[in-house]
Amino acid sequence: MKSIVLVDGNPLIWRAFYAVGLEYDGVTKGIVSSISKIIEQFKCGYDNVDSSILVFWDSGKSRWRRKVYPDYKLHREAKKEKIDIEGVYKQRDAARAFIKNMGIRQIWVKGVEADDLIAWFATYFQGFNLYDKIVISTTDKDIWQLINDNTSVYDPINKEIIDEMEVKQRLGITPLQIPDWKALAGDVSDNIKGVNGIGDKTAVELIKSYGGVTGILDPTNHEAIVKYKRTASIIDHMEHIGFEYGLTRLSEFSEMKWYLNEDESNELVYSMFKKVQRDRLGVQLMKEKFQSVSSVQGSGLSLPSEVLTGIKAFVGKKEQEEYSSLASLDQAILYCTKCSLREGCGDYGPTLAEGFSDVEIMVIGRNPGEDELKGGRPFIGKAGKRLDQFLLEVGLTRREIWVTNVCKCYSKNNRPLTHGEVMACSGYLQSEIDLIKPKFILAFGNEAMSLVTPYGSGVTKHCGEIMVSPNSLLLEKQIMATVAVCVHPSSALRSVKYETEMQYATKTVKEFLEGKRC
Ligand code: URA
Repeated sequence: MKSIVLVDGNPLIWRAFYAVGLEYDGVTKGIVSSISKIIEQFKCGYDNVDSSILVFWDSGKSRWRRKVYPDYKLHREAKKEKIDIEGVYKQRDAARAFIKNMGIRQIWVKGVEADDLIAWFATYFQGFNLYDKIVISTTDKDIWQLINDNTSVYDPINKEIIDEMEVKQRLGITPLQIPDWKALAGDVSDNIKGVNGIGDKTAVELIKSYGGVTGILDPTNHEAIVKYKRTASIIDHMEHIGFEYGLTRLSEFSEMKWYLNEDESNELVYSMFKKVQRDRLGVQLMKEKFQSVSSVQGSGLSLPSEVLTGIKAFVGKKEQEEYSSLASLDQAILYCTKCSLREGCGDYGPTLAEGFSDVEIMVIGRNPGEDELKGGRPFIGKAGKRLDQFLLEVGLTRREIWVTNVCKCYSKNNRPLTHGEVMACSGYLQSEIDLIKPKFILAFGNEAMSLVTPYGSGVTKHCGEIMVSPNSLLLEKQIMATVAVCVHPSSALRSVKYETEMQYATKTVKEFLEGKRC
């Protein structure tokens, strides 16, 4: 039986600090001793191939939560001001060094909290069935939402295991209903206010009667809710309930990936993310998880737009054309039904762009072929190989570029795209350009050229041209990128004429980039 223990290191810091303080390296010793006890209890460690352990740390507060809710955990800040926080962190770092020497892998990503990281890893392990048993060591009740039949929580302070039964017995709700419960009853420790006058008991009653926040926000249930004394406050707090519900859900795959760019050195996280991105199962799992959140939107409720601000961070909004993050853009693309191409992708779904968001160069192709559809990544088939050759010749690697397509969906037998299909997807490309802000764009093929240059057609005529005169798609967003035009790599593979054109573009792009470098 393979098992893994995912340890939230943060409660161990504070436990040691409040119990023994900073004297005699109390915090360092406390953390190391707690980790050793966990290893002993679960018989896990680097020398046990069947039972592993990973330790997670906060690295700043959750960036996306603070963005949508600046007061998130604000009161903790005040608390920290009163203590020697630098001293605490110094001792925490010493403990980390010690733990590293024990051969234990530790993970932290800037702007992401440990519980979000743990959620990401746990759902990843669950999704890929990598372990028969997952134990999460934490004192944070938020994590209880991840409990299921192979995942339990270990409270290292009270030394108790919380499983599905225990959650039901203690709270009267299922683990998945914990965000609903917090949104209603509030959580002082996170500065989640909940609804005035609704305590734990009423929150549970409401959840039991209406299934959760979705049912409570449904106007058809409001009359029935009137029988609760606190109904008035529920109605007054509608916006807040939806918002806080979004806040209390832990981050999922697509949320996480955009933060990884900040901490590329964390190879373990990065390689896992890549696997999720490449593996259709991961994408499917992600979609299923998002389904439960989007059902709030899908239920036909007419809620004020701000109500879903928090939730939007996860699911995006189908009709919206402005996306505040690459994650919400991805969500919108995954759920897009603007044209019939989506249907042709079946369960594979759209092929999302690939790359690090800190790059300065963007490659735009036409749309994914069959290899890309099945592999879930842009430009990985024959055209991709030709693209790689082009990149090599001009002195670029894929690490330096954002690879995307005009249309994110496969078209059967690579049939040409209609103008309507290109236009339906163009808003996504525009947002992508706006979010990545490339300085140099390589447009491959007529479709890409028509969207980022003033030329509507005739890619062979313009192949090799490099210009700084963008069209409205770029101007609207005030993006002044240099654009290079090239015939599509798959055309080059089909005909000598196009291949010659592509070689010409290789030369002009190479010269341009060399000029930039010196
Ligand atoms: N052709 C494209 O235009 N894009 C891909 O991703 C693959 C082939």
